[in-house]
Amino acid sequence: MKLKVNDQVKILQGKDRGKTGKVIQVFKKEDKIVVEGLNIMKKHVRARKQGEKGQIIELSAPIDFSNAMLICPKCNKPVRVGFKIDGDNKKRWCRKCQTLID
Ligand SMILES: [Zn+2]
Repeated sequence: MKLKVNDQVKILQGKDRGKTGKVIQVFKKEDKIVVEGLNIMKKHVRARKQGEKGQIIELSAPIDFSNAMLICPKCNKPVRVGFKIDGDNKKRWCRKCQTLID
């Protein structure tokens, strides 16, 4: 998985194509991410108690991580990410400006 929580990403596919946002959740097994404020789905919530109103809540649905591209914090562009092995750590780096990304 090349993306982490708090990454800025650009959406490449779907109705939010071209928009950018912050990753707020990562599902490693499913290869999906949730981007803050994007891919909004409306969900109807039924009233649980009598006298209560049902409501519609909006939430960001997960998207496939391959539909998003990391925005490099250094060069501020959507970039392809590479990995460098540093001991036990796999570090990400920007293929454009060569900067290591935390
Ligand atoms: Zn860069």
